Amino acid sequence: ATPTSIMVGTGRGAQLGVLIKSGRALQRAGELGTLVFDKTGTLTIGKPVLAEVWVDPSAGLDRDALLRLAASIEAQSEHPLAQAVVAAAQGPLPKAGDFLSVPGQGVTATVEGRTVAIGNERLMQARNLNLETARAARERLEESGATVVHVAVDNVLAGLLAISDQLRPESEKAVQRLRDLGMEIVLLTGDSERAARAVAARLDIDRVIAGVLPDRKAEVIIELQQEGRVVGMVGDGINDAPALARADLGVAMGGGMDVAMESGDVVLMREDLFGVLTALALSRAVMRNIR
Ligand code: ADP
Ligand code: MG
Repeated sequence: ATPTSIMVGTGRGAQLGVLIKSGRALQRAGELGTLVFDKTGTLTIGKPVLAEVWVDPSAGLDRDALLRLAASIEAQSEHPLAQAVVAAAQGPLPKAGDFLSVPGQGVTATVEGRTVAIGNERLMQARNLNLETARAARERLEESGATVVHVAVDNVLAGLLAISDQLRPESEKAVQRLRDLGMEIVLLTGDSERAARAVAARLDIDRVIAGVLPDRKAEVIIELQQEGRVVGMVGDGINDAPALARADLGVAMGGGMDVAMESGDVVLMREDLFGVLTALALSRAVMRNIR
């Protein structure tokens, strides 16, 4: 494309809240064959709320006690899931010590003399916990699309927290239109397979790559690139930055982390997924002009 047509294209994008950082990015947008979406904060609004607490009857803790323990630890975490737990707890919280965050898995600490671990199946398995008593409850909660977090107290599973996050209002239509343009859509997340599938089903996405640790997301992008198509990635979180950088076109949600915005080739300033379609349309218009 000529420098002038690129300037017109990126200028028009900026007016529409779609920051396209280079001429190369503008060109790439029109060549995409696969588009990978992060789940939380990208397809969903990223404001998770506690939807349900399941307490193991043999744990000897009631709902409020379990929530208080969990919230006292999550108060030290910056994860969006943690904020949902803290917001749902009532009254003053005990102080947690020895706080440890395990990226992509959860958090651990000691509270009131008890060792507490909060997180996904991987975190529990590393502690050799028996998850059988919670299995039916977990499956039911995950089938609703909620992220289910385990709470273990003194090395026994004590309960589950179901945390749900609404889809963005435009997600379904934006994904549909991208698919209509012939793009393959992939959902990539650190969340469980079942919760991810439930969300994907609502968006008619059938390719789901779940349970991916943060530092593996970029490798997944490389594997998709090896299938031979030009791969774009849309994400928001700090976890997504390496994948955004690795993708042929990284698209960052504008409300996300600074590091994600820096890694993106395109930034959606209006936090609206239709911005991806805008970038594609501008690319096609500009590239057509030069032929
Ligand atoms: P995502 O890909 O959805 O952004 P992450 O990679 O950050 O997710 O986390 C993956 C999973 O690890 C979460 O779904 C959750 O089960 C668990 N997890 C991570 N951080 C926390 C936390 N602070 N509290 C509870 N669970 C957590
Ligand atoms: Mg995210």
